Amino acid sequence: MIDIKDLHKSYKIGKNSLHVLKGINFNVKEGELVSIMGSSGSGKSTLLNILGILDEADSGSYHLDGVPIKNLNERIAANYRNKFLGFIFQSFNLINYKSALDNVALPLYYQGISRGERNDRAMSYLEKVGLAEWAEHKPNELSGGQKQRVAIARALASHPKVLLADELTGALDTKTSYEIMDLIQQINDEGKTILVVTHEEDIAQMTKRIVHLKDGVIIKDEKVEQVRALEHV
Ligand code: ADP
Ligand code: MG
Repeated sequence: MIDIKDLHKSYKIGKNSLHVLKGINFNVKEGELVSIMGSSGSGKSTLLNILGILDEADSGSYHLDGVPIKNLNERIAANYRNKFLGFIFQSFNLINYKSALDNVALPLYYQGISRGERNDRAMSYLEKVGLAEWAEHKPNELSGGQKQRVAIARALASHPKVLLADELTGALDTKTSYEIMDLIQQINDEGKTILVVTHEEDIAQMTKRIVHLKDGVIIKDEKVEQVRALEHV
């Protein structure tokens, strides 16, 4: 599903250049639940932004579901993001003046899906994340965990091939984090390919494979015995 080879990325800061990703090789197969774990500054978000076609590497190759991702103009990049990817962020990135239902439905509007279908789909994904009764509520009436559930419903509603989550539990307390990871595990059990970026070891242990990133290099890539989040709630 995801295949990257010898990826490099530097940021220009004035006259200097900061080499952040130093030759990353890895791939993710359909149905995997993988975490990229590393301390702050190790390059996790930089890598995830490239995988999410929000940024581009300086060199190396990236194939997403067999499609080469290179030199895309913004229109095609947006098209691929809609077609292939669902995003979940630490800060939820919900629109505050729109209801939960409208937040989930909005990306479908940009994909040209009819109003009836948008609302049906949005409602069914809110049900899936356990928020059917909260459909008409705005984000500021929801808890952090509920906001992240709305964001997960929004990510799923576009039927992405891959879910990309950047520190999705970073703003949540421990119990709520595990409830969110339980939902992530359920979605993966149903077959969705999911990539979780985290600096937290206990969150990474809830995936099936941990890719350890340190100073822009993969230092370990291991299959792990998945810890079921529900056992910790
Ligand atoms: P992580 O997500 O693992 O904490 P990041 O990928 O966000 O790490 O950052 C890796 C390094 O790149 C850090 O030193 C950070 O300061 C730097 N960095 C990230 N984004 C930018 C940017 N847009 N411009 C310059 N430096 C950046
Ligand atoms: Mg980060």
